[in-house]
Amino acid sequence: MSDGLPPLREVIASHGLSARKSLGQNFLLDLNLTGRIARRAGDLSARDVLEIGPGPGGLTRALLAEGARKVVAVERDERCLPALAEVSNAYPGRLEVLSGDALTLDTTRHLTAPVRVVANLPYNVGTELLVRWLTPAEWPPFWSSLTLMFQKEVAERIVAAPGSKAYGRLSILAQWRSDAKLAFEISSKAFTPPPKVTSAVVHLDALSAPRFPADQKTLSDIVAKAFNQRRKMLRSSLRSVSADIEDKLLIAGIQPTDRAETVSLEQFCALARLL
Ligand code: SAM
Repeated sequence: MSDGLPPLREVIASHGLSARKSLGQNFLLDLNLTGRIARRAGDLSARDVLEIGPGPGGLTRALLAEGARKVVAVERDERCLPALAEVSNAYPGRLEVLSGDALTLDTTRHLTAPVRVVANLPYNVGTELLVRWLTPAEWPPFWSSLTLMFQKEVAERIVAAPGSKAYGRLSILAQWRSDAKLAFEISSKAFTPPPKVTSAVVHLDALSAPRFPADQKTLSDIVAKAFNQRRKMLRSSLRSVSADIEDKLLIAGIQPTDRAETVSLEQFCALARLL
């Protein structure tokens, strides 16, 4: 990559960016690897890119080198801003850095929808944002794709099929409105400092319409209740949802004695439509 910028180790040393655990900072310093993540996001030249948590800018540099027409990057750690300003200077007019918390900052006026979202985030923030991105009232959303790094177990939950241990609320929310794929795993050794767990990149393409019709809030509500007590039979875990839940389950093609982990997305949507 010939962007004229120094290696990331030097950037970190010269800007004093020692990783802070409280901000979930595990940096990727291998630009071949960040390039691989950027390429998995798809064609970056025709869409704006939203990056959350650029840190010292490894993934940001890869996104720009891979041809992103515009990157808007939201970073909470102000110590990273001077390093990111150098990236911005190397790619004039193509990188806008927003200083703040991605959970509260409104990025919409900085971007032209639909955007590609790319992020290597602390896992708790990543899951919270993913759920928000998957559950807007209106669909299609402001994004066309999400390319996100997660703890491997979370990545597996996003793409899991019924009957597997990983199948749950995240699987339903992700697969209802998007095409979700596990892209590749990343060894903890690739990060500085290395986290305790293996990571994986997940790629989601927004569907133009949900796979099956259902009201978003109703579906989210029953799925949360059903999986909250995933070992219980649905007639009991969903008792509070409707007085005649057993009849509704049967109409939706679900046995009242079934457990949430065996119920397909299509069946959950059928049940949501009856409620
Ligand atoms: N993208 C860089 C990389 O791949 O090396 C850094 C990844 S590091 C796992 C997560 C980054 O997200 C850190 O730079 C951290 O400061 C930032 N971050 C943590 N919480 C955030 C939040 N709520 N909003 C925005 N950025 C956040």
